[in-house]
Amino acid sequence: MLPGLYAHVPFCRTKCPYCGFYSIPSKIPVAGWLDGLKREILHYNNQFNRFDSLYLGGGTPSFLSVEVLKEVMACLFDHFHLTPDAEITIEANPRDISLERASILKSIGFNRINLGVQSFDDPVLKFLGRNHSAEDVENAIRYLRSAGFQNIGLDLIHGLKVQSMKAWINTLKRALAFRPEHLSCYQLTLETGTVFDRRSQKKERIILPEKTAAAHFLATSAFLENNGYQHYEVSNFARGESFEARHNRKYWEHVPYLGLGPSAHSFDGKKRWWNLRSVKKYTAALKKGHLPIAGSEILTTEQLHLESLSLGFRTRKGVDLEILTRTPTSKEALLLHADRGLLKIENGRAVPTTRGYLLADSLPLCFSA
Ligand code: SF4
Repeated sequence: MLPGLYAHVPFCRTKCPYCGFYSIPSKIPVAGWLDGLKREILHYNNQFNRFDSLYLGGGTPSFLSVEVLKEVMACLFDHFHLTPDAEITIEANPRDISLERASILKSIGFNRINLGVQSFDDPVLKFLGRNHSAEDVENAIRYLRSAGFQNIGLDLIHGLKVQSMKAWINTLKRALAFRPEHLSCYQLTLETGTVFDRRSQKKERIILPEKTAAAHFLATSAFLENNGYQHYEVSNFARGESFEARHNRKYWEHVPYLGLGPSAHSFDGKKRWWNLRSVKKYTAALKKGHLPIAGSEILTTEQLHLESLSLGFRTRKGVDLEILTRTPTSKEALLLHADRGLLKIENGRAVPTTRGYLLADSLPLCFSA
C-alpha cells in the first residue's frame, strides 16, 4: 500500500460539546492557515514519492469557501503525486452541501465524501450541539448523489443516554434508505477537556452504562451485517471491500502517512511526529522557516509489535498467527480467547469476533511478552 496524505482544516462553525479534535469556531485565521499550509506543502514536496489517498479532515473542511478549497486542492495536486485511482475524501457538514457546492467539490477532485451526520433524530442532534437537522442531512445526500458522488460515508454516534435502542436503530434505518457505501458508527466517549466531560464530572449522565452501550454495539453490528454491510473495523462498516476507507486503513495497518496542518500526525514506518495544536503557533513557525512540529517519537521494535496487535485486533483482518504466538503463554492466550468466542482462527490469522471487538483495547495485553 502506498502512503496516505492528510490535511487538517481546523475550523468549524460551532464547537460540538463532545469533540476532542483540534478546531476553533471561527474562520478569521483562514488566510494565515492557508499561507502556513502552502509553506508546509513546499517543505515536504520532494520527500514522498506517491500517495494513493488524500483526506481533507478537521474540523469542518466544507466550512471553507469554494475559493479556498480550490487553492488548497490545486496546491496539493501541484506538489504531490497522487495516483490516478487515489481515494480523495473531504469531511463535510450536511449544512454546507447544496447542489452547486456538491458539484464544485466533485469538479475540484473529490471522489468520496464523509458526511458528519451523527443522527437522524432532531432531539439527539440538538443534544449533540449539532447545527444541522435530519432534513439537512437527507437533502445533502440527495445533492451529493445528483452531483455524481458514488462513494458516500456517513458518520453516526451511538451510546448516548438520551438515545433508546429503538431510536438508534431507527437512525440506522433512515441512513440505509440512502444505501451509503460506508458507515462509521462511533460509540460516544467522554474526551478529556470537552464540555460533555465537564458536565459528566458534575454528575450529569451523558453516556449509556457500559453494559447497555455494549448491547447497542452488538445490535448495530448485527443490524448492519444483516443489511449487507461488512463490519470490517470496530466502528466501521462498508458495502463491500472496495468501499472500505482506504485512507483510514493506513492508520490501522501501519502504512506511512503524511499529515499537514495544525495538530496533524505523520508516520514513516518507524518514526511518528505531530504538529503544533494551535493555528497561530503553526502559522508563526512556518513563517519563520521552521517546521511546526510539536513532538516526535521513534517506535521501538516492541512498541511497533504491540501497536500492530492493538491495531490488528480492531479489524477483521486480525493478526498474523506467527507474529501473535511467539511465546508459549501467547499460544495459551489464543486458545483461551478462541474458546470464549472472542477470537477465531482464519487463514493463518487470529481474527476478532464482534464480541472480540468489544475488547479490542485490552486484547493485546494478553499477548504481550
Ligand atoms: S465534531 Fe466535527 S463539527 Fe463538531 S467541533 Fe468537532 S470537528 Fe467540528
